Amino acid sequence: MRFSAFFGVLSALCLSGAMGNVAAAEPDAAELTRCVQGLRGAAVKAGVSEAGFQRLTAGLKPDGGVLESLDYQPEFRTPIWDYLAGLVDDERVRDGRAMLTRWQDALAQVARRYGVDAATVVAVWGVESKYGQSFGKKPLLQSLATLSCFGRRQSYFRQEFFSALKIADSGDVPAEQLVGSWAGAFGHTQFMPSTFLRTAVDFDGDGRRDLVGNVPDALASTANFLHNAGWRSGLPWGMEVKLPAGLDVSGASRKNKQPLSKWAARGVTRVDGRPLPADDWKAGLLLPAGKEGPAFLVSRNFDAIYSYNAAESYALAIALLSDALRGGSAAPQHPWPTDDPGLSREERREVQRALIAHGYDIGEVDGMLGSASRKAIRDLQQRAGMEADGRAGQKMLRWLRAHPGEKTQ
Ligand code: CA
Repeated sequence: MRFSAFFGVLSALCLSGAMGNVAAAEPDAAELTRCVQGLRGAAVKAGVSEAGFQRLTAGLKPDGGVLESLDYQPEFRTPIWDYLAGLVDDERVRDGRAMLTRWQDALAQVARRYGVDAATVVAVWGVESKYGQSFGKKPLLQSLATLSCFGRRQSYFRQEFFSALKIADSGDVPAEQLVGSWAGAFGHTQFMPSTFLRTAVDFDGDGRRDLVGNVPDALASTANFLHNAGWRSGLPWGMEVKLPAGLDVSGASRKNKQPLSKWAARGVTRVDGRPLPADDWKAGLLLPAGKEGPAFLVSRNFDAIYSYNAAESYALAIALLSDALRGGSAAPQHPWPTDDPGLSREERREVQRALIAHGYDIGEVDGMLGSASRKAIRDLQQRAGMEADGRAGQKMLRWLRAHPGEKTQ
């Protein structure tokens, strides 16, 4: 759950290190204090206690960094094959299988209560927070207070600020543990605070909805979200399919659904050529890279996953990861329409180590090719006489392997 409306598919891979190039004036601390005090009445009306408001807002300082993130415009649109190669890689499949085993009892109970299967719940967890390894580092109250008082979209962020105050005030999650993305998504599920209030559940029954410190609460809350979004138990998210030559794909869309029998009548088969399933659910045709790329028929359960983050590429990452967690393939059978496929996180780290060996200061080797890495890649591409687009795919990786830098680490 990310603040994706302005951010698109770049967000999941470049949350840190991608910012910059935006000269924003540092917001004024006294102005923030005045503004926050001015919100007291509205916060109390929204359900925050007077005492809680005073305690939780005392000493809040503005954070100019979140305003830069708000205004950041990606100079670089991530191709879907790069996006998926980083999110659905061997590492995330392996870690996810370990989590399926480790949490199998809780996942079985969650599946019984909400009707959402373990692989889907774990796939969301893996994409949202790397199975709890990556929550974001921004103190939520500080970020949301800043966004409530400066910049665009203040009224939206005020509701999230009040929601975060209510979460801390109620004791579900203490304020010091409310740490997350610049826009306020936090915890295992990366819910926004308002989503937390609507959707989080106390699954282990200890009286707190703890999506930061309690995995069963987090798994159940994810399942509850999908359940509320219209998930139908037992229905597949969809499948990769093969289109007959000459099929008219105008109007193809996730939303434009027809029964499988109609697709079959038009000559669509499973990707391996076998007929579509006989159970006649409704499916939309998703062509994430146009008709030259892989094709998918997707059900209403794909829509439920989509609603978690409002991006089709995001929903496809979770769908493919869930297939891989069930023992299927993580990558589409039909190749993406590119001669330069994307890199896994391990390969991205290899690129970053090579950039350091070439003398570039790209910061931490974290498997995320942010702006410093892309700048270094652009520079190397120029020196190598390649197209200097700052993107590293398999071609760049091969070049770096053939041209190791000299700086030893
Ligand atoms: Ca609990």
